[in-house]
Amino acid sequence: MRIEAAITDIKNSLADSVQLIAISKTKPIEDIEIAYNAGQRLFGENKAQEMRVKHEALPKDIEWHFIGHLQSNKIKYIAPYVALIHSIDSLNLLNEINNAAKKNNRVINCLLQFHIAKEDTKFGLNQEKAEEFLNSDAYKAMANVNIVGVMGMATFTDDLELIRSEFICLRQCFEKLKNGLFAAKEDFTEISMGMSDDYGIAIEEGSTLIRVGSSIFGDRERK
Ligand SMILES: *Cc1c(COP(=O)(O)O)cnc(C)c1O
Repeated sequence: MRIEAAITDIKNSLADSVQLIAISKTKPIEDIEIAYNAGQRLFGENKAQEMRVKHEALPKDIEWHFIGHLQSNKIKYIAPYVALIHSIDSLNLLNEINNAAKKNNRVINCLLQFHIAKEDTKFGLNQEKAEEFLNSDAYKAMANVNIVGVMGMATFTDDLELIRSEFICLRQCFEKLKNGLFAAKEDFTEISMGMSDDYGIAIEEGSTLIRVGSSIFGDRERK
């Protein structure tokens, strides 16, 4: 009941412009089934092999979102079905995804992950690096990946104003691209920001995709 109630509460609180991705990493298939039966269809995972096992076991109308650091040699586990990869931080990674997508005869939607946190542990692009790679001939030749927005993670802190300023920064990164390089790209629309503790602030600052784990499924075991 807890999982069902959490899904229903969060979904009921969202405007149509915001979608909930239930982050099910480390959680068992049974928990995902409960969320599915409550109407949830978007799930996020951060390990490619774990996502593959869950994809095989669960209904095929689930949209699987990849939210973690993705190693090139693991792309094959998710390329046939992944709906959106949130964590593009290099031209090289995008190129590997493009190749895997081509082998599977599909186009994979992706988000550019920006580094917005004060901590230097969280990886991601800055504006200059992003524009540099988007302007490259190598990127322009990639026909099997489609960049539909940006993603970022705020600093892990109780300082709500710091978190807000980082989300504003991500929205500005999005707007610069939307009004610049991607001005003609109508499907460049997504801002993936906000987790269990900060999705309210993220929505106020323009999030279109919130990634919520522990508020739905309970705490994860720390490794
Ligand atoms: C785990 C994770 C989340 C969800 O975190 P919660 O605090 O449990 O909601 C969101 N985004 C990313 C990138 C994650 O790794």
